[in-house]
Amino acid sequence: VIHLNDVSRVFPADPPVHALSKIRLRVEQGDYVAIVGPSGSGKSTLLNTLGLLDRPTAGSYLLDGIETTTLKDGARTRLRGHRIGFVYQSFHLLDHRTVAENVMLAEMYGRSGGAGGERARKEPPGATGGGYGRRGRRRRAEEMLEKVGMSHRVDFVPGRLSGGERQRVAIARALMGGPSLLLCDEPTGNLDSRNTGAVLDLFDGLRDQGLTLLVITHEDAVSARANRRVRISDGILTEG
Ligand code: ATP
Ligand code: MG
Repeated sequence: VIHLNDVSRVFPADPPVHALSKIRLRVEQGDYVAIVGPSGSGKSTLLNTLGLLDRPTAGSYLLDGIETTTLKDGARTRLRGHRIGFVYQSFHLLDHRTVAENVMLAEMYGRSGGAGGERARKEPPGATGGGYGRRGRRRRAEEMLEKVGMSHRVDFVPGRLSGGERQRVAIARALMGGPSLLLCDEPTGNLDSRNTGAVLDLFDGLRDQGLTLLVITHEDAVSARANRRVRISDGILTEG
């Protein structure tokens, strides 16, 4: 599903920062990969590159057979909306929106066959409504919240949730577009061990459903669940 061939990312600075140096990586559908490495080693840059938020300065990145490095911004954004979900340490939820609204507001793009699809097709491409009308979107958000065990909190605001609950909502939001790849940057960094366990159990379930997971982590409890571990140090990736 992912094929990086000699991917480099140099940030212009004086001297230039070689955040990624000739990275080679193959990840198959259903893989669960832990990414470890010291601060400043290039982990987030790698994740942003894989998530099409950042573009390599050299090399090739095939996602499901599509060469992404030469795609225009719009095509990259659509590809991201269809295939990729993101989960961050700090959840990135909107404080003044309910749980359901936070999930509904996920960046996502027209999925075929979804409820409300007819109306969605009349929306301009990239409209915030995504591929569902508002009702279909609400229904899908509720489905995703059920998947993460948060059905009982749809009308809460994030401030009234525990950290583990917030992260489960963020995961539901990441699943809205029906991604095949979930990219997580320290997803349990703000959680205690019990909530970490709940999120990891959720990841196991997603992996069992065929999702590919890449997880940046400093925690052994997290990397122990992965079936592969890669290490980055000074922008250089090594397996195992
Ligand atoms: P941490 O564990 O602290 O999150 P990281 O492994 O995620 O670190 P990155 O954020 O990928 O590290 O950064 C890798 C290197 O690239 C660092 O030296 C950082 O200072 C540099 N860097 C990242 N983004 C930029 C940018 N936009 N411009 C210049 N340098 C950058
Ligand atoms: Mg980082």
